[in-house]
Amino acid sequence: MRRAQCEESVEESVQQQTDGTHSTKLISWVESANSDHTDFPIQNLPYGSFRRRGAKQAEGAAIGVAIGECVLDVGSLATAGLLSGLSAATERAARLPVLNRLAALSKSERVALRARISRLLSDAGERAVVEPHLHPMEEVEMLLPFEVGDYTDFYASIEHATNVGSLFRPDNPLLPNYRWVPIGYHGRASSVIVSGTDVRRPLGQRKAPDAEAPSFGPCRMLDYELEVGCWIAGANPLGEPTPIAEAEDRIFGLSLVNDWSARDIQAWEYQPLGPFLAKSFATTTSPWVVTAEALAPFRCAMRQRGEDEPEPLEYLSHADGARPAFDIELEVLISSRAMREAGGDPVRLSATNFRHMYWSFGQMIAHHSSNGCDLRPGDLLASGTVSGESRDQFGALLEITRRGAEPIELPGGETRAMLEDGDEITLRGRCRREGVRSIGFGSARGTVLPARA
Ligand code: MN
Repeated sequence: MRRAQCEESVEESVQQQTDGTHSTKLISWVESANSDHTDFPIQNLPYGSFRRRGAKQAEGAAIGVAIGECVLDVGSLATAGLLSGLSAATERAARLPVLNRLAALSKSERVALRARISRLLSDAGERAVVEPHLHPMEEVEMLLPFEVGDYTDFYASIEHATNVGSLFRPDNPLLPNYRWVPIGYHGRASSVIVSGTDVRRPLGQRKAPDAEAPSFGPCRMLDYELEVGCWIAGANPLGEPTPIAEAEDRIFGLSLVNDWSARDIQAWEYQPLGPFLAKSFATTTSPWVVTAEALAPFRCAMRQRGEDEPEPLEYLSHADGARPAFDIELEVLISSRAMREAGGDPVRLSATNFRHMYWSFGQMIAHHSSNGCDLRPGDLLASGTVSGESRDQFGALLEITRRGAEPIELPGGETRAMLEDGDEITLRGRCRREGVRSIGFGSARGTVLPARA
């Protein structure tokens, strides 16, 4: 049903929302970009921040675009005059080490920059001047793409909310506000880290249900959360909400987010004000931000609300025919230390699709700013754990193992109720549609280190 709805609108949406940069006929002179398997064909062109490995500190970071197995240095492209003719603000933004100023540009400026990069990487006549600005991916180190302003984490999967609710309130899993208001909390921006950064098991206060008093020590129930992050473009002044009709233009791009969670700390601290130290020790993002422009062919209608469900209030209602959802296949993989030592590959914990979300990023942006709160370029809104309907589609161990009660088995016979030290979690995302070039997100990866003594 949901799937059919998505398919129906493919041709129309592809025509409405795409331009020459999405054409399946477009190929790059960077040959690795033309492989069917790459996440980064010329139709994608995601932005990130990188440094050449072993480069002198003075050389610093630059904005890059992923193309096949290479990174295009957008900063040096600008310095070489290859972005001339674009706005002065675009050329300035391109020379900075992080994406915040790019995200402050207007939609038309962002579209023009994408078109220029697409042409430079496809036109064989440009190869000689552009090739010196390319670096093999294995020779660069990826950095955090933004100087993260504010970070807000939502709770937009009704399956996740229902699963988690059922662990605590079997008779009444979903609270009455859920279908009316996009639930979220203010997260911590300083501990957002880029993929590949290790995650130290946090210390904290936790209390077992049968214990008389809480104790302080290493988290015993460390978990991951499969999420999608939305990086904010443009700014609304304090006191001036972004209406839902304009909310789509506030999406600079999306990345994969792992909202690492300490379930035992969370259970003890969350009432009455919500998550705090159970979440703020680390949040991993993938290094590449896939732009709203690249994702245009993968937009689709939202899931249909049932007859017993309320329609969203007007300020959260998308226009008829809008396609606020994103068709993104997501998966989570685990590799334990023992699995790596045995030379085994990571195994999949779950796979789901982002199009099932109950609330769209457009609704989250309209809601977040509805009280006048100012969202700024480089703010991060995360979706909340993305879960589907069945156990193999759940986006956290909390749900998969029912809070540890039903452990899963790994190759080699190990079991997991929650994460152990040495476990590596990898998130992946890929967009696929008939008649459209597939694009991917790369990965968001992190390995659990033991708690500090
Ligand atoms: Mn979360």
